[in-house]
Amino acid sequence: MNTADILAWLTETDEKRLAPLWAEADRVRRANVGEAVHLRGLIEISNHCVRRCAYCGLRVERAELARYRMTADEVLGSARDAFQFGYGTVVLQAGEDPGWRAEEMADVVRRIKGETPLAVTLSLGERSPDEWKLWRAAGADRYLLRFETSNRALYDLIHPAGPGGQLSDRLAMLRELRALGYEIGSGVMIGIPGQTYRDLARDLETFRALDLDMIGVGPFIPHPDTPLGKTAAVAGPEQPPADELMTFKMIALTRLLCPRANIPSTTALATLNLEQGRELGLQRGANIVMPNVTPLKYRALYEIYPGKACIREDGAQCSFCLRGRLAAIGRPVGQGQGAARRPVEA
Ligand code: SAM
Ligand code: SF4
Repeated sequence: MNTADILAWLTETDEKRLAPLWAEADRVRRANVGEAVHLRGLIEISNHCVRRCAYCGLRVERAELARYRMTADEVLGSARDAFQFGYGTVVLQAGEDPGWRAEEMADVVRRIKGETPLAVTLSLGERSPDEWKLWRAAGADRYLLRFETSNRALYDLIHPAGPGGQLSDRLAMLRELRALGYEIGSGVMIGIPGQTYRDLARDLETFRALDLDMIGVGPFIPHPDTPLGKTAAVAGPEQPPADELMTFKMIALTRLLCPRANIPSTTALATLNLEQGRELGLQRGANIVMPNVTPLKYRALYEIYPGKACIREDGAQCSFCLRGRLAAIGRPVGQGQGAARRPVEA
């Protein structure tokens, strides 16, 4: 598929004409990663963050947000819950939080790997290569770091330098993580003010070039207490909407361009459409869901954007709800860790 084909699909809005795209994405998903939906238990281990991302409700300048940091024992407890619920992976996610010292994190990873058969995915932002190395040696399997948009000027605008003034080059970081032996995951937000359809087409081509194991694409959801949430929506002909249909098109095209990748149907999608969003994502190319296993008392504080789905339910309720939803669309729950199937080298 070339750039013109990708752009034609991205700008198509007629549901009837989109039907063949959904069908092809579903077929390619089935042929390459099968029917199983793998469940990754998400533990939001801290909402402290030193960064000032213009889009995110956890940014350091949000003084009004009450901050929390889970203890190592709490993280272990949530990981045990995830195992009890039958999940194959836990994802430890946080703001960029130096309060989680590298050694403590390594210790938590070692304990989870020692006590359970779970795969451990980390999503802890732009930490140092030495820290990534330490965590990998402790047993961490995967690292998630979205590059957010392949439009470099837009990225620099919405993702300012870190507290030490360091500019971020997440594409280089992903290559570094891969070289350390991690399975790597990345992704983008859809409908960022100032983004164009061409940017989304380039995002998709970048996924293919990076040969990612996991790819998460979700709608940008404005948070009113962030600089980007206050930006009036740009409504020019080049601006893709941050809506469900646009997200389904990106999921489907991601599946066609990266047939063997693990692709989640995201919480942001469920936030836009609690009834059907996640299910439709799974029927249009996705094969992963990330149920929340964060202790209930912390969930509302991990407020990346307002109205987030699944913050009033506890882990057991999320597990029960999701299994019912998967059964309703005839998809079995995946067993084991659900590692990405790497293409066989020629
Ligand atoms: N701090 C780590 C990082 O930035 O990679 C991990 C946590 S961060 C909250 C996880 C992801 O949330 C980001 O990569 C971004 O794509 C997404 N996110 C943040 N703000 C968002 C928003 N307003 N709408 C949709 N997604 C958002
Ligand atoms: Fe921090 Fe990640 Fe939010 Fe940026 S996106 S402010 S690094 S939690």
